Amino acid sequence: MLLDVFNIQHFSTGDGPGIRSTIFFGGCNLCCPWCHNPESFITGSNMRHIDEIVDDVMSDKEFYAESGGGVTLSGGEPLIPGNGCLELLRRLKEKELHIIIDTALSADNIDLPAVASYTDMFFVDIKTADSGLFSSVCGGDMDLLCRNIDKLTGSGADIVFRIPLIPGFNMDDISVDKMIAFTKGYSLPVTLLPFHRLGSAKYKELGLTYKYADIEPPSDREADAIRMKFNNEGIMEANV
Ligand code: SF4
Repeated sequence: MLLDVFNIQHFSTGDGPGIRSTIFFGGCNLCCPWCHNPESFITGSNMRHIDEIVDDVMSDKEFYAESGGGVTLSGGEPLIPGNGCLELLRRLKEKELHIIIDTALSADNIDLPAVASYTDMFFVDIKTADSGLFSSVCGGDMDLLCRNIDKLTGSGADIVFRIPLIPGFNMDDISVDKMIAFTKGYSLPVTLLPFHRLGSAKYKELGLTYKYADIEPPSDREADAIRMKFNNEGIMEANV
């Protein structure tokens, strides 16, 4: 079976505990204008066999064992391949690897309880709690996202919400209050991820226009003020 994987990043330390290999899937159902993985917009030119993907990540097996790490599926949207994603998870779990999926839960073609049965932890991206903004800016469907969160929580999945802090999109008081109310309703830990422009060079290389090229990342002070608001509402900060 072939999967659209545009990169496998070894010795990754920002995608979960320990030393990990991060598998980046091509294709996404959303179109966030700040996306720092524009490679995922180009689909179909990086097809890799599942055997090759499993062999590639297994080359670092001893580092996962020593560091408490494992494998993270990211993207793009790793759930888009549906049964292909499930088959990869089954093969990775057969190797007793710790598995994280970093997802926007924007896919509706996959058996999420089955995915959860192979997955140790989910990083679920929450871009905004405003369904109109989510739809008009990211092309997202808030009802689908909520339904998918419910499926995962119903399966007993370990979930961390990851919220990107995007200037001009979700950092104003009203947006932050809505996101606090949304996350509080689930009683799940949250990681806030301030916007950065590290993807700029990739847009240039791919000949794509980066709408956020001139947007300044939030200052530490701005990010800390939002973090404090979440903390004051009793929302746990994730430790991964
Ligand atoms: S969900 Fe993630 S990968 Fe998809 S467009 Fe948004 S930021 Fe990019």
